Amino acid sequence: MWQLVGQDRAVTLLQRNLERGAVAHAYLLVGPPHVGKMTLALELAQALNCEAAEPPCGECDPCQKVASGKHADVQVIGVNSNGNSNDKPRTEISIEQVREIQHSSSLPPFEGKHKVFIIDGAELMSNEAANCLLKTLEEPSEGVVFILLTANDSFLPETVVSRCQRLELRPLPTSQVEAALGERRSLESAKTELLSRLCHGRLGWALTAADDDSLLERRDQLVEKLLEVIRGDNEQRFDYVAQLAAQFGKNRLSVQEVLDLWLDWWRDLLLIKLGSSGAITNIDHEAELAEMSQGYSLPQIRAFINSIQAAGEQLGQNANPRLTLEVLMLSIPGRSAV
Ligand SMILES: [Zn+2]
Repeated sequence: MWQLVGQDRAVTLLQRNLERGAVAHAYLLVGPPHVGKMTLALELAQALNCEAAEPPCGECDPCQKVASGKHADVQVIGVNSNGNSNDKPRTEISIEQVREIQHSSSLPPFEGKHKVFIIDGAELMSNEAANCLLKTLEEPSEGVVFILLTANDSFLPETVVSRCQRLELRPLPTSQVEAALGERRSLESAKTELLSRLCHGRLGWALTAADDDSLLERRDQLVEKLLEVIRGDNEQRFDYVAQLAAQFGKNRLSVQEVLDLWLDWWRDLLLIKLGSSGAITNIDHEAELAEMSQGYSLPQIRAFINSIQAAGEQLGQNANPRLTLEVLMLSIPGRSAV
């Protein structure tokens, strides 16, 4: 039984490949972070090495070893894998890492039926690493399966993409996340509902946030900061920009996370303005949002949503972060009684 929730198309296709003995040499799983790519990759690795009649059973020795990361023939490679903690954090998957798996893939399986190499964040392969992997994909060895995971396959060389069977994983409907989260974790219903909305269809995020309070704490801090900045003057806004710009140099994703949260907040204001408060994301701030929405007109809210999206795109295209974020702060609409 496949445990992955809601990705029926991808699961059905893999299941059929397995039943027909027509497993591809390489799969490319594409989807946003925490949507289930690693879960599906590990389940496929289990299915390929499972001893039960209907793989993956999740219970036989090979299945359990894969689940606990102890199967000798299943290897996960990413920017943070095989790292020495004294090394400086890596930002790309290096050619050395790919050479290692290339060598390992040329040897027969140690204990299982298939060797499986999962490359997490495949778009982070250096050019040399991707070219090296391409050679391996062009001359596949029997019994070896590569599974590449990426949030964005447009960052991968076309030559690599064309060698893989591509499977897309999409965010789930909120109701499906809520049902699955309710089944797997016993939380208060308000928290289940909040996490189901905050995760935007990515069940993995909701499950992680259910187990690790720091995710929700960070989100609460970001909301608090957003309110402070919206109510603050230009000096406070530019102070925040300086903070974010410095952060951007170290961790781009954390700044994108701030923009995503701002986008959610202003979309909520828009929804309330349009009379659809039942569809908002930040349900734990409904009263505050309702009050705030009165201070802005619909065109003001729409214009600022466009500004946040434009800032996100510009940062993705390597615009100057400080300048981009200053422009964004200057376009926060002024409150008026509307
Ligand atoms: Zn099994």
